[in-house]
Amino acid sequence: MTENRIYLSSPHMGGDELKYIQEAFDTNWIAPLGPNVNAFEQELAEFVGSKGGAALSSGTAAIHLALRLLNVGQGDRVFCSSLTFIASANPILYQGAEPVFIDSEPESWNMSPDALEQAFVDAANEEKLPKAVIVVNLYGQSADMDKVIEICDRYGVPVIEDAAESLGATYKGKASGTFGKYGIYSFNGNKIITTSGGGMLVSDDVEALKKARFWATQARDQARHYQHSEIGYNYRMSNVVAGIGRGQLKVLDERVRVKREIFERYVEAFKNVKGFDFMPEPSYGRSTRWLTTLTIDPEKCGFSRDDMIDALAAENIEARPVWKPLHLQPVFEGCSYYPHSGDESVSDRLFEYGVCLPSGTNMTIDEQERVIECIRKLMMK
Ligand SMILES: *Cc1c(COP(=O)(O)O)cnc(C)c1O
Repeated sequence: MTENRIYLSSPHMGGDELKYIQEAFDTNWIAPLGPNVNAFEQELAEFVGSKGGAALSSGTAAIHLALRLLNVGQGDRVFCSSLTFIASANPILYQGAEPVFIDSEPESWNMSPDALEQAFVDAANEEKLPKAVIVVNLYGQSADMDKVIEICDRYGVPVIEDAAESLGATYKGKASGTFGKYGIYSFNGNKIITTSGGGMLVSDDVEALKKARFWATQARDQARHYQHSEIGYNYRMSNVVAGIGRGQLKVLDERVRVKREIFERYVEAFKNVKGFDFMPEPSYGRSTRWLTTLTIDPEKCGFSRDDMIDALAAENIEARPVWKPLHLQPVFEGCSYYPHSGDESVSDRLFEYGVCLPSGTNMTIDEQERVIECIRKLMMK
């Protein structure tokens, strides 16, 4: 008997999505732009407490537009978290700029303020400060934004907050994604809420958001004919897709609650296991626990991260290593990298030992028990 596949995090509709899609069909708004797009922008901005949002085709597009709004161009430098999905940094290359990767700190697994400081000291000495800093909030957990922003402010460099994985999280009571000059969210299929694919750029600078929407629709000048004085993109979210987003936003709080319960169940099951260390949640904020992640020390528990992934795969359960740091990716070979301290690269260690466990909010308790049992069997071997 092969049992149902258990995924890391699969789409989970709330119920109202079809209603908004139906409205789009009834009014024949099957185009980009339209009432769902405007409403989704307003509703999401209100949810996170930002002055506005621009709904886009992806989170990657949002990062790209944020970089362009900050005038990042050929030969410029951009600092970026190393432990992340490649989408955080690819847009730096789209703009012809040079990424400099910053390690994680052990406390949050996110950007190390110590490594960031060191990168700034060197850049200031070379008289080549970055044009922007991209700070990523991993697996539902905010970076230590006060520390990061204090350093960036001191050097007068704006922050882009990649909150693709942290929508619904808070830092000191305020929504993750609203700390930088620009914040970005993703609604890709595996994210905490999804539109099947999409993204949002948020900011308190509503003029900048207007510019982003302009670039996102091929930069069409005001004219009867098609006229263009700048390079644009086809980056806008469609009115059908935005309907899914409106429905999903209504269940976001509920999704966060369930994600945290899933995390607690894993912690409860493995709390006495030597060598298992769950991703920490610093007291400054509240993580969504988008994915339950932990490190596994093979010296202490007798099996490795890969042994665990193999054992789960054999039972049709998806698990994955923590992101491979970008400074180790072949495509970024030769780029500068600043470790947390002289002899400690935190992201290398998290990649070597870290694993993400199934954390989908539509996973049943029985299914989660199946995951836990499979890991217990591995421990008995
Ligand atoms: C998913 C993700 C993105 C990109 O979002 P898309 O909507 O897939 O383009 C960017 N950064 C991080 C950290 C992500 O996890």
